Amino acid sequence: MEKKRKISIIGSTGSIGTQALEVIEKLHDKFEIIALAGGSNVELLKKQAEKFRPKYVCHNANDKTSDGFSAKILYGEEGLEQICSNKENDIILISCSGKIGLKPTLKAIENGINIALANKETLVMAGDIVMKKAKEHGVKIIPVDSEHCAIHQCIKDISQVDKLIITASGGPFLHKSIDEMKKATVKEALSHPRWHMGKKITVDSATLMNKGLEIIEAHHLFGMDYDDIEVVIHPESIVHSAIEYKDGSVVAQLGLPSMHIPIQYAISYPERFEGIKSKSFSFAEAARLNFEKPDFEKFPALGLAYRAGRAGGTATVCLNAANEEAVYAFLEGKITLCQIVDITQKMLEEHKIIPNPSIDEIFEVDEEIREKTKELIRNL
Ligand code: MG
Repeated sequence: MEKKRKISIIGSTGSIGTQALEVIEKLHDKFEIIALAGGSNVELLKKQAEKFRPKYVCHNANDKTSDGFSAKILYGEEGLEQICSNKENDIILISCSGKIGLKPTLKAIENGINIALANKETLVMAGDIVMKKAKEHGVKIIPVDSEHCAIHQCIKDISQVDKLIITASGGPFLHKSIDEMKKATVKEALSHPRWHMGKKITVDSATLMNKGLEIIEAHHLFGMDYDDIEVVIHPESIVHSAIEYKDGSVVAQLGLPSMHIPIQYAISYPERFEGIKSKSFSFAEAARLNFEKPDFEKFPALGLAYRAGRAGGTATVCLNAANEEAVYAFLEGKITLCQIVDITQKMLEEHKIIPNPSIDEIFEVDEEIREKTKELIRNL
């Protein structure tokens, strides 16, 4: 019998985590789950543990409950570190959101465990450190984000690639006026036309900050200069991204917009299995694919992300932290959608960049910017 691939999931109760478990359920003869780590949704984690029978589960609910679990229980950040130090794992899927993903990722890399990476903050906050470490330990980082997964599939030899072309659906305000965007309600911002995702990333998709963060991720993952990373609006979300080779050949990856496909690719790489495939892709049914230039004036988050990325050091830490706090404030009705980027820009302008920060410095800056951003919002 073929050896099963041993996997742990950090963030199993989130949007990507639950979809990853759907993939693994379908491919139960290919994967064995070692550990499942959720946040505070203990009920869901319990259901997952009953179904998938991991050896370990980890949660960070205030009540350190172990009731009803047959697996060994671990708690909080320490639990995540234990999971990521377990060399039994062939691969770990980092699918939690937020900075909580960074330390477990580094731990797994130090232990030589390959990573399927869905957590944006890991590369946005500490891309230089993470990629350097991965190289030193011979660890593969396979991106789950659909755009980076697409690029990963297109690239044979990065030294022959001239340009990365990242597609963006454009979000719910693509063809709305700036005035309409200024008046946008939380509900409008959360109604993404193509993808169903968590709230934070859906708001980021409305401002295009999500694409901005993806530019920074792409820079680290593929070692490309910011000048050679382009964004193109593609509302249908069929072309997930593309690359242009030196000779002018453009290679793109296409498919129906479903996160099951990139998740499955990342955890199965370099193999491909017949997993969850709702239907075969039809060019005739897709009929028309549209592309347009992004509007940098209407979506200033894009330009801001390029600026932070080029500045390097802790600039991207600042961008990420300020944006995240501003998104939460928007979701709580404290600020408008357009203020998210205004506030982020202000924080970035005031930030004194540390050029080659250590992990500790990264977390310090992250905390500092979050506090300052909240203060700025309180005083508006
Ligand atoms: Mg994406």
